[in-house]
Amino acid sequence: MKLFILFSILSLSFFAQTPQEFGKAEVKKLASPSFFGRGYVNNGCGIAANYIESQFIKYGLKSFNGKYKQEFNFDVNTFPTSVEMKIDGVGLETGKEFIVSPISGSSKGSYSLMWIDSTNFPEFKETLKTMRLNGSAAFVIDKKGVGKEELKSLREFSFYLSSLGPVINIEEEKFTWSVGRQAAKNAIVSVLRTKMNREVKKVSFNIENKLVTNYKAENVIGFIEGKCKRKSLVISAHYDHLGMMGQKVYFPGANDNASGTAMLLYLAKYYSTHKPKYNIVFMSFAGEEAGLLGSNYYTENPLFHLNKIKFLTNLDLAGTGDEGITVVNATLHKKQFKKLGKLNVKKNYLEKVKLRGPAANSDHYFFTQKGVPSFFIYTNGGIKAYHDVFDKAETLPLTEFNDYSKLLIDFFKKL
Ligand SMILES: [Zn+2]
Repeated sequence: MKLFILFSILSLSFFAQTPQEFGKAEVKKLASPSFFGRGYVNNGCGIAANYIESQFIKYGLKSFNGKYKQEFNFDVNTFPTSVEMKIDGVGLETGKEFIVSPISGSSKGSYSLMWIDSTNFPEFKETLKTMRLNGSAAFVIDKKGVGKEELKSLREFSFYLSSLGPVINIEEEKFTWSVGRQAAKNAIVSVLRTKMNREVKKVSFNIENKLVTNYKAENVIGFIEGKCKRKSLVISAHYDHLGMMGQKVYFPGANDNASGTAMLLYLAKYYSTHKPKYNIVFMSFAGEEAGLLGSNYYTENPLFHLNKIKFLTNLDLAGTGDEGITVVNATLHKKQFKKLGKLNVKKNYLEKVKLRGPAANSDHYFFTQKGVPSFFIYTNGGIKAYHDVFDKAETLPLTEFNDYSKLLIDFFKKL
């Protein structure tokens, strides 16, 4: 018996997972190919919602009105089949050498090129009127050297051009993708400058978009009861990302925001065995990348009165921390920010806790607008991959995940 107890204690401590190990496993899972980038192709978003719900159940979270999911709808532009481009017969690597614009339409076939750059814009607008276009030309836009004022008008003009034919934007180095909620008539792509020059004779596209109307997305929400049930702390993190660009390329979104979701799940697990002072409500939002849609919907349709929220902490980009964290809304809630900074120094957790003013850059925003005190915290330093195919689990260190989780727990205790 004694031996058995000893063995149990040993094995418990041996197998006890650190927050970082827990986080790494969750990020690896959420950013894996089977979640399809948690977007709108192959139901990636829905698969992620089901997974998070299953974890809420596993940790014994309670639900509001008997369900964890809160549904809402929006239109979204998707690329569910092929996204291919060739330059003079040579295929480009999707996501790395070219990307489709989030609002791209479909184009199929071969096109000659018409260049618009600093030498012929804005005159091109005039000459276009006299041109006979038969749909066999694609427009190449080179913004290099175009003046600041003209650039704005060129951007608007390029959307008009996409109604006449495919549009190719030349990009210097890195692509950043996002989610579109409308679609142009023809393909709009960005291509690396190293792949596109005046010698190019023809390009061909096999790009198909599908504008999905009323896509059904789901926030996943659960809570753990505190000793004092009158007030709640909210921990939020969006779980959606950008999804897929065709069937071959997906955006893993490890840092954005599998990492914040992993932290949210870690805290759910933690509080399931450490009864908190106040209720803790876990809000896993959808549609953030499409314009903070899930959190906006929630604040318009709250599951309990918004004035019962004592404080909301939104976690997005929780995967590095080599250079500390930044706190959005710090200038609005100086007292709380001071507490957080003090705890950090006292326990020697993170390199730096940086102050930032209000910003509409994640799911805290609509809560702030409604007068709910909130912080949005993101980690700094380390890998810079963002909204691209390189934001992968393998290269996301979660360097400060242990200390970051401890700091949050200490902070929630003091609120
Ligand atoms: Zn994000």
